[in-house]
Amino acid sequence: MSTEKTIPATLIPGDGIGPEIVQSVVEILDTVGAPFKWEKALGGVAALDATGSPLPKETIESIRRTGLALKGPLTTPVGGGFKSINVTLRQEFGLFANVRPTKTIVPGGRFENINLVIFRENLEGYYAAMENYIPYGDDPHAIATSAGYTTRRECNRIVRYAFEYAVKNNRKRVTLVHKANILKLLTGLFLEEGRKVAKEYEGRVEVNERIVDACAMQLVTDPWQYDCIVTTNLFGDILSDLTAGLVGGLGLAPGANIGEKAAVFEAVHGSAPDIAGQNKANPTSLLLAANMMLAHVGRQDLATRIDKAIEKVITSGAVRTGDLGGKATTTELTAALKQAL
Ligand code: NAD
Repeated sequence: MSTEKTIPATLIPGDGIGPEIVQSVVEILDTVGAPFKWEKALGGVAALDATGSPLPKETIESIRRTGLALKGPLTTPVGGGFKSINVTLRQEFGLFANVRPTKTIVPGGRFENINLVIFRENLEGYYAAMENYIPYGDDPHAIATSAGYTTRRECNRIVRYAFEYAVKNNRKRVTLVHKANILKLLTGLFLEEGRKVAKEYEGRVEVNERIVDACAMQLVTDPWQYDCIVTTNLFGDILSDLTAGLVGGLGLAPGANIGEKAAVFEAVHGSAPDIAGQNKANPTSLLLAANMMLAHVGRQDLATRIDKAIEKVITSGAVRTGDLGGKATTTELTAALKQAL
């Protein structure tokens, strides 16, 4: 097999554990001869320290050029500070679909045989974050407001993406998750478009509907009833952390942000500042994201090889990082994965 690196791709090491897990993943990709020719770029606090901007224009230009990025987690200040770079990237490149698969890899947990995918609308809803304070009396921050919005176009696009994925990947059912009983317009429009799109797939993909709170409960009591879930931005963000928890936590949860001209692949987890620089981080989420990236460029063969190595190493239980109850370092797990390829 050719190991020639022919597909330019942007590589953002990111913050906290980012550089450690990115290094691990790049080593594994190199071992299987992945075709990516990396353009290294900065983002997050690392970029802010080096260039004065958390998202330098060189990084944006690189992604515009390559249309493909593998991204380590980026730290976002809570409360004040700069706007989330992840949100900015999604908006800059119109990355409308956030795809987050969840599959059981670690055996013997509370939940076996979980295999579902969450499709999260990635551009709108409350994550548009149009927020304001309203002063009252002598308190300038007495009231906080946030306005969300959804558009017919994006609701249609994300639901269609989920159904198309279901057809291509032999998935049986798509569940539309909403809160249209309370947010009758904001998520009602999503449901309305969802039902419309679902009709076009009648006979090919089953459809059903769930209110988000009921869905959260069922994901814990009976997750096997779910196959594909498509939902709005905030709900998708929360539910996908929940589903990551079903299969062993954030160390095993990948995500893809897909647009028409660019795609950014990342782990669902953040920069884990509590374990950064300690060689303790589990690189598997980012590795699974790299697998989605390989599949995206037509190299499912390599993704399958890496998937098998992950299953072999993690199932055997000999080499696991702390988040999965083991004692292995990032370096040890990386070496074991490379050996299992
Ligand atoms: P986090 O996901 O970074 O960490 C939550 C917990 O999970 C921590 O205890 C951490 O040690 C553990 N953990 C996460 N990833 C792990 C891994 N690969 N291996 C082992 N343990 C792991 O969430 P947080 O602490 O709430 O956020 C930290 C920062 O990351 C914040 O600035 C947040 O805004 C940012 N963040 C970024 C992204 C992203 O870049 N996509 C996503 C979520 C959070």
